[in-house]
Amino acid sequence: MDSEAVTPLEDVRSRMARACEAARREPSDVTLIAVSKTHPAVAIVPLIEAGQRVFGENRVQEAQAKWPALRARYPAIELHLIGQLQSNKADEAVALFDCLHSLDRPSLAQALAKAMERQGRQVPCFIQVNIGGEAQKGGCAIGDLPDFIASVRETCIPVAGLMCIPPADIEPAPFFALLARLAADNGLAGLSMGMSDDFETAIMLGATHVRVGSALFGERV
Ligand SMILES: *Cc1c(COP(=O)(O)O)cnc(C)c1O
Repeated sequence: MDSEAVTPLEDVRSRMARACEAARREPSDVTLIAVSKTHPAVAIVPLIEAGQRVFGENRVQEAQAKWPALRARYPAIELHLIGQLQSNKADEAVALFDCLHSLDRPSLAQALAKAMERQGRQVPCFIQVNIGGEAQKGGCAIGDLPDFIASVRETCIPVAGLMCIPPADIEPAPFFALLARLAADNGLAGLSMGMSDDFETAIMLGATHVRVGSALFGERV
């Protein structure tokens, strides 16, 4: 292998840095979540060895199978759940993850609050917003957001910010801008938005956490 070759991680990091510079933002204000779903430990280890510490998975069971062994070797790992969560998995999610990105309904908030109280563990949660109003997608409806945020703030759950997955195949910038506006209106600082195809746009519009999978690991297996 050519040692001069830029790795995908280096490429993503430099693209993030350029987007931060263009947006007059500090690179340290944007966290790269390396989305390792479907990829085995052998594909993940090189990124950890190269200094990446924050990883994202979308299924509790898959993460339980993969991460305890990796964390035993690399204790500084921060693990984020980016996929939908069923209330009956709340206990497992709170035990395993350091941050959750898909809090989108009162029943799940109740289950997570109970799990956090039981375990004496506060796991920051992003509130997922159904930013394109798509019937098949998770996320809190925009109209319900103020009430939902208020109800979560009455629990022990630390609210990290807002998260969205814009509709596929159309320009994402207006949706990122809307999410940023909703976060500002509701006094929230965190913005989990931007994936492999659009993380630079998301950074320009205020993303604090970008969730990047295929640009780092290649197409999903
Ligand atoms: C898979 C996934 C990502 C990463 O997608 P890529 O296009 O591979 O970067 C980001 N966010 C969520 C919620 C995902 O499920």
